[in-house]
Amino acid sequence: MSRADELATGLAATRERIERACASADRDPADITLVAVTKFFPASDVRLLHELGVRDVGESRHPEARDKRTECADLDLTWHFIGVLQSNKAAAIAAYADVVHSVDRPKLVTGLAKGADERGRPLDVLLQVDLDPEIREQRGGARPEDVAALAARISAESSLHLRGVMAVAPLGSDPAEAFARLAPGIAEVRRQAPEATWVSAGMSGDLEAAIAAGTTHVRVGAAILGSRVVRR
Ligand SMILES: *Cc1c(COP(=O)(O)O)cnc(C)c1O
Repeated sequence: MSRADELATGLAATRERIERACASADRDPADITLVAVTKFFPASDVRLLHELGVRDVGESRHPEARDKRTECADLDLTWHFIGVLQSNKAAAIAAYADVVHSVDRPKLVTGLAKGADERGRPLDVLLQVDLDPEIREQRGGARPEDVAALAARISAESSLHLRGVMAVAPLGSDPAEAFARLAPGIAEVRRQAPEATWVSAGMSGDLEAAIAAGTTHVRVGAAILGSRVVRR
């Protein structure tokens, strides 16, 4: 099978899963944005996915994300930065990302706002909420008690647009239970920013649970691109 056929197969299967999950949850598939997570995979895969109709791609590492975006500058794509952020790289990431999903502490806000200011175009951001009931800080995310203050901090920056929340189900958890814990964070963010309606939750292993829980953006890597790891 050619790489294009592999990607077409993975993408079709993923779109079918999304449609089925929407049917069970009585939701419109048009309300779900599929973000194809291309981390570890080459720019040539991004190009093939674009030919297959993908318009949203997710990356989690800098500078890999920046380099791929440069290689694909001729394509109309929305670039989502979804990985754990280091504050010393925040401004650099804001120079090229269209959406940053993983804003989980005030220190990042300063750098992202500076980068968005410098490029002269506002940056869409999501506030990442930690769904782990134990404090392990494995996969990033603000603790629930810190969400209100962080949302206020983001809203105070004119170069950042707070669009909603993001979460990753903790390893080994029941995803339905985990995503249910996101509700207070969603409510808190919307109280401060009513237009912040995006919910980024759901990956290859748990997108059905996320759709049932009301997600608007699923971030799917392995189910589309396979588990082959191409380190560059
Ligand atoms: C890698 C990654 C994904 C995609 O995960 P898959 O299991 O490959 O679908 C989604 N979200 C984040 C934050 C990631 O780092």
